[in-house]
Amino acid sequence: MKVLVFGSLNIDHVYQVPHFLRPGETMDSLAYSRNAGGKGLNQAIALARAGMDTAFAGAIGQDGLFLRQLLEDTGVDTARVQVLDSPTGHAIIQVEAGGGNAILLLGGANRCITPEMAAHALEGLCPGDWVLLQNEISCGYEILRMAKQRGLSVALNPSPASPELAAWPLDTVDLLLLNEVEGNDLTGCTEPQAILDGLMQRYPQTAVVLTLGADGAYYRDAQQQLYHPAVPVTAVDTTAAGDTFTGYFLAAWLPGGDAAHALRLAAHAAALAVTRPGAGASIPEAEEAAAFMDRTSKNGDCDQ
Ligand code: ADP
Repeated sequence: MKVLVFGSLNIDHVYQVPHFLRPGETMDSLAYSRNAGGKGLNQAIALARAGMDTAFAGAIGQDGLFLRQLLEDTGVDTARVQVLDSPTGHAIIQVEAGGGNAILLLGGANRCITPEMAAHALEGLCPGDWVLLQNEISCGYEILRMAKQRGLSVALNPSPASPELAAWPLDTVDLLLLNEVEGNDLTGCTEPQAILDGLMQRYPQTAVVLTLGADGAYYRDAQQQLYHPAVPVTAVDTTAAGDTFTGYFLAAWLPGGDAAHALRLAAHAAALAVTRPGAGASIPEAEEAAAFMDRTSKNGDCDQ
């Protein structure tokens, strides 16, 4: 069994600024860093670090070759990453002294995925293999349909929330991983329990993971509902917390379907990620996540 992440690859250009740019203003930045990002890339790194056989399908421009290299260095099969004549998807992020940010996005190559590219990328996958999708590339709807037609299993993180998602055949998704905002978008409900009930009513065949930031996460399927609290840590940067959770949950859940174990491991991996700055760089290795889980259970401060 392998997981093909079909998703986004982004470059985050981060500028420290005295204040956000005003219309017509030109201003020197205080510092600059270039980071790898994109939900697809982050989730693939989390899956691979968690020990899953992981492949990636997506698109970059010439300026994004380092993203493909990063995936390769993490052990991800990048044979399905295409280099197009388009800029790589990127974000221009201004960060003010107080930590607030303003973000300008360009989908770039992520929005150049065509149905033909999607069909080609799914070749070679067999029933038993999984496709993990988010909502940051073009043709997500087509990829979901084609994957199901091939008899593949699909995990979907419907993020960022968008009105088009309502038209996707979500009842065919095998595992839906989402946060409260996305859950609210799909159900109209705000309370976690109402979101879970609403999703089960609409998609009774779908297993659901609902994450609630520092308030923990739920797992729900037709047979059971489980909860695991967030592991108490001092949060430094919550970027990629959800992506780390998604990758670790899937890697731990797929082999034997043990949702309680998967929730617990994912909560520990995501907690480690929030104690460090950055996205990909903050995602822990499997040994580290397992050791952290051992330590907290010995201290008896998190599981229920
Ligand atoms: P997203 O980034 O997709 O919005 P969440 O914010 O719900 O995802 O976070 C996903 C998971 O990461 C949570 O269920 C929790 O386990 C962990 N997490 C997030 N924020 C914190 C935090 N401040 N402290 C500890 N764990 C956290």
